[in-house]
Amino acid sequence: MQGLCFFAPAFNDSKGDFSVSTKVVKFGGSSLADANQFIKVANIIKADPARKYVVPSAPGKRNPKDTKVTDMLYACYDMATRGGDFEGMFSSIKSRYNDIIEGLGLDMSLDDEFETIERGFKARAGRDYAASRGEYLNGKILAKYLGFAFVDAADVIFFANDSKLKLEETCHAVKERLDEVGNAVIPGFYGSMPNDTIKTFSRGGSDITGSIVAAAMGVDLYENWTDVSGFLVCDPRIVPDPVPIKTITYQELRELSYMGAGVLHEDAIFPVRKSCIPINIKNTNKPDDPGTMIVENDGGDSSEYVITGIAGHCGFVTVTIEKDMMNSELGFGRKVLEVFENYGISFEHMPSGIDTMSIVVHKSEYEEKEEQIIRALERSVHPDRIDVDRDVALVAVVGRGMRKQRGTAARIFAALAHAKVNVKMIDQGSSELNIIVGISNEDFETSIKSIYDIFVTERL
Ligand code: ASP
Repeated sequence: MQGLCFFAPAFNDSKGDFSVSTKVVKFGGSSLADANQFIKVANIIKADPARKYVVPSAPGKRNPKDTKVTDMLYACYDMATRGGDFEGMFSSIKSRYNDIIEGLGLDMSLDDEFETIERGFKARAGRDYAASRGEYLNGKILAKYLGFAFVDAADVIFFANDSKLKLEETCHAVKERLDEVGNAVIPGFYGSMPNDTIKTFSRGGSDITGSIVAAAMGVDLYENWTDVSGFLVCDPRIVPDPVPIKTITYQELRELSYMGAGVLHEDAIFPVRKSCIPINIKNTNKPDDPGTMIVENDGGDSSEYVITGIAGHCGFVTVTIEKDMMNSELGFGRKVLEVFENYGISFEHMPSGIDTMSIVVHKSEYEEKEEQIIRALERSVHPDRIDVDRDVALVAVVGRGMRKQRGTAARIFAALAHAKVNVKMIDQGSSELNIIVGISNEDFETSIKSIYDIFVTERL
């Protein structure tokens, strides 16, 4: 699939919009937290007839101190299963929805639904069932408000007994149903098991529902509406007001998400990527911002800064094993990795020299097993020396532009040297899409700032 599809829709720069015929639009919890947000969402949908299939989350936080309805549902269900009095909690949940209905002036009541849910709680219908009602009820209100059909995700999204999504069967059912009804609201986050019970995706899973519906309908664009205007080149807690990323490839996004850059659920990429459908991350509160386009292939149009993003984490450990003639010892690497595997530790990186091999692991996973691991390594590969560096942070610089641009690595290392950061480890992915550097934890923020400055600030 890689490299076979190019970004197809025509970009209309003046409106920051795409002239395409069908879109799936997914709205996150903060976009649907109250009646005011619903109004913004409806305006966005009505502004473009291509926005035919709508996937809502449950109401999110209305302010930083607020609680998401999904969390309220989990807590309420847990209380019910402990045999506690959950009426109070349940009525706060009902109020969240009733306030929205009232704020929109809708002529509808969810009382029957609330009763069914309450009975489900008493009958221990399951935590997944409980959590899924957040999206289900929000979907009912949104469908009514928009005048779109409501399609219950339980009727079209199917899991197998091993809890894996049955993608083909699901796509078939989604297509059949949506072809029948036209414009529709399909609540995010859940589907059904073969025995008809409800199963949810992991948290943030409405992104996956949106992606499935987009793939099933073969739409031109999957718009994912949230409360930020797309991805930023780096974490705004480290660099104030970093520039937004206009276009990112799926592959770059995987690298950056893995290193800690969030916004979209990791598993949301796969269904649309298979069908080469681009995703546009947009901001419900600033709908004119172009947001970030996620594409399979940028058609040769690299990022204007050479790099696309910078991300990273503190809290790693490097275990370096040294042994003369290691290079010619058959099975050495396998035996080393086997030790880590036997202790249930996955490794993050494995830079190596002629007679040394380093394994980078998460400190939190490694720390308490250290003694046993060192002893097992000694028994298994008889090293000359083992060194452990417990003060390692990793910073990944990701960018498809690196392949074509000479001197990118030199600029990264010049920036770090200039900022007086000592580089402990370097790892360049074989796809030339990223360069990862290992540094001291205390140099983490300085490193990100200095790399950002040399590639972005100096170009602004
Ligand atoms: N409401 C769910 C959650 O809070 C799913 C979602 O919003 O995507 O995780």
